Amino acid sequence: MSLDSVFNGTWSDDHRSGVVAVVGRPNVGKSTLINAILGQKIAIATPKPQTTRRIQLGIYSTEKMQVLFTDTPGLHAPRNTLGEYMMTVAEQTLSDADVILWILDVSEPPQKPDEYIAETIQSARGDTPVVLVFNKIDLAGDNPDFSPFEALLDAQKTVRVSALKEMGVDTLINEIADYIPEGPRYYPLDQVSDMNMRFIAGETVREKIILNTEKEVPHSVAVEIADYKDLDHVTEIYAVIYVEKDSQKGIIIGKGGKMIKKIGSSARQDLEKMIGRQVHLDLRVKVLKNWRSDERFMRKVGYILPKANED
Ligand code: GDP
Ligand code: MG
Repeated sequence: MSLDSVFNGTWSDDHRSGVVAVVGRPNVGKSTLINAILGQKIAIATPKPQTTRRIQLGIYSTEKMQVLFTDTPGLHAPRNTLGEYMMTVAEQTLSDADVILWILDVSEPPQKPDEYIAETIQSARGDTPVVLVFNKIDLAGDNPDFSPFEALLDAQKTVRVSALKEMGVDTLINEIADYIPEGPRYYPLDQVSDMNMRFIAGETVREKIILNTEKEVPHSVAVEIADYKDLDHVTEIYAVIYVEKDSQKGIIIGKGGKMIKKIGSSARQDLEKMIGRQVHLDLRVKVLKNWRSDERFMRKVGYILPKANED
């Protein structure tokens, strides 16, 4: 990522800034950890894999330091255009970072995908330091044996945390700070994300669908924000939910519209908390076959970033 594009100014000698690549297989707690570090909810977190489709940036700032966290989509074997894109992003993120945080779920033994991630980190890391984060220690029992995790990769450090219970998070930040070089503050002190509310609104609707549906439905859903209006007393958000089949449309709408109402009201409540004002959320469902192989569509809904440096 080029940070020069967002910074123009000077900084004092003792300010530091850098990029942390957060990696780990789906469901280990990456989004939960970023939310705990930032103290508020910016990345959606659910118990189902592949919730994160797009690279997301969380911005942690103090007077002396600014750290940009990239919450990378899970590293896994590509199956379609979206999968290939996610892989490329993940590998770039690793080589560009000041430090790699590999999040592991220590409530269960290492899994096959962890070995695959170890290989990917090993081949992409160059001289980037790696910190192993042993997450979910609240579920690990009294005398956990971490050696199978330590054996996965030759890392600079290990830190134990519970992202959910917000344990060990301060220690983790101190350990990360060692690797952050001198540099400017790129974003205002109070900014926690580089994503606009429009995209976050779409992700919030998608989160509620993932939480309330099963099997292939979560993977088949894309949400486009067709319109977003900040009016005097209310924010109006018009969202279009895309699915790949008529049957999925039926599931999302539900009997007598029950499901879509449930999705809409829980998304609206979250958005009202985030935006701090009344929200009117309008949901529509459309069928768009094979959107997951349609690059133009994925750019439009923000799952693929616009090409930055094409020259
Ligand atoms: P991601 O796919 O790596 O981003 O994982 P998420 O952050 O979405 O978390 C997946 C699930 O694990 C969610 O249900 C979280 O609440 C849960 N989780 C995350 N961290 C912890 C933790 O430290 N302890 C426990 N018990 N659950 C956690
Ligand atoms: Mg996630």
